[in-house]
Amino acid sequence: MAITLFNTLTRKREEFVPLDRKEVRLYTCGPTVYNYAHIGNLRAYLFEDLLKRTLLFNNYNVKHVMNITDVGHLTSDADTGEDKMLKGAKREGKTVWEVAEFYIDAFNRDLFKLNILKPTILCRATDHITEQIELIKRLEKKGFTYVAGGNVYFDTSKLSDYGKLAQLNLNAEKTVQARVEKDANKRNPHDFVLWFTKSKFQEQEMKWASPWGEGYPGWHIECSAMSMKYLGEQFDIHCGGIDHIPVHHTNEIAQSEAATGKKPWVEYWLHNEFLVIGDNEKMAKSGDNFLTLSLIESKGYPALVYRYLCLGTHYRKPLMFSYEALEGAKNSYRRLTEKTLELKKEKTAMKEDKEIADEYLAVFTAQINDDLNTPQALATMWEMLGDAKLSGKGKFTLLLKFDKVLGLDLKNFKEEKIKVPAEVKKLAEERELARKNKDWKKSDELREKIKALGYVVGDTKEGYVVSKV
Ligand code: AMP
Ligand code: ZN
Repeated sequence: MAITLFNTLTRKREEFVPLDRKEVRLYTCGPTVYNYAHIGNLRAYLFEDLLKRTLLFNNYNVKHVMNITDVGHLTSDADTGEDKMLKGAKREGKTVWEVAEFYIDAFNRDLFKLNILKPTILCRATDHITEQIELIKRLEKKGFTYVAGGNVYFDTSKLSDYGKLAQLNLNAEKTVQARVEKDANKRNPHDFVLWFTKSKFQEQEMKWASPWGEGYPGWHIECSAMSMKYLGEQFDIHCGGIDHIPVHHTNEIAQSEAATGKKPWVEYWLHNEFLVIGDNEKMAKSGDNFLTLSLIESKGYPALVYRYLCLGTHYRKPLMFSYEALEGAKNSYRRLTEKTLELKKEKTAMKEDKEIADEYLAVFTAQINDDLNTPQALATMWEMLGDAKLSGKGKFTLLLKFDKVLGLDLKNFKEEKIKVPAEVKKLAEERELARKNKDWKKSDELREKIKALGYVVGDTKEGYVVSKV
């Protein structure tokens, strides 16, 4: 079945056709390791994991490369502000190298807890300085660079299609740029640093010898150098959050296509919308609205509940985070895991199973292949679970197939140690019946009785759930 993806480059949904039939080559921009990833960042990695799982589900092999930025990224994506790694080191009284190690470990733990498939190659910018220098030399040879104030810059005026990904209107932007903080060395407002030698960060610990003097790379060059090293000069898909469109990805395209002369560098560009909180505010590492996975876990929400929450919103729509929404996801996830355990015990299939299961599978696949429509795919999953025409065994088998894409690790889910006593279960069933009969008074009384026994009952679209107080 064909896969359709929304390509930021064309602003259109397009049928996905890989360059090489056997293997899809995918690059995703990874974390800057000066702090924990926040749950907004994790939304990006979850979206990319969903994309990768969808490709695998459609029988493609996937070569996935993700970078780790451990040098060169300033607090403004456009080469101004503080050095992020140095900022982390000062905050924690450590060296930048220690900071990087610490947050790489934390990042890997988050990926594991969220059941995110490991990239084929996870590569650090500081391990690829030679490749970055070589790429800058290639650009220099072709006349795309200039040196000013000790730094090497990419000259965006040398490319006729600079800014095509973001559909930048360069003339209109010149006036806007004039108002923001500027690097006086730049010939054009959009020019960017390829190599810093005279940095304003005197204490910079990370320095390497280069043809332009001792220094360190600008932020964007690492992604071009490492993706081309591992995936070739042209590859299929490149991803990141929407904040990467106007600067980071725009500059990656400029330097890659300028160096190789081959266009397009990447066929499909996919971007996830933000996770927002409170008054529609983007969650940001520099902000005070920063929530980590460990924090929400400590409040009683397992990592996979967060994964379930993310699946409920299409990746190109903002995800409004709130604890109420997370609580809803927790209830649905619990209902799902309870159902999974119940179905696991079923041993008998029905002869109609295959036909019905094939239909559900076709619907689910069409939804997921339709630009990763997880809200609809989840609805199909719940419809299937409630379908009396399908046996328990048939449901279980199909659920595990769906979960190859959803990634909720249902196969390995273990029963919680706390068993809900039969007495509580009976009261919960009675309450469910009272609710169905719209007898709210009785339903409330039963809720209180359940609470007195040390349990709470919650409601989801799919039915009630019981947990310990
Ligand atoms: P960073 O570590 O800042 O380089 O960001 C890692 C990834 O998270 C990038 O793909 C960003 O575009 C993405 N990202 C940053 N903030 C958010 C957010 N609030 N919601 C979703 N994705 C985000
Ligand atoms: Zn990147």
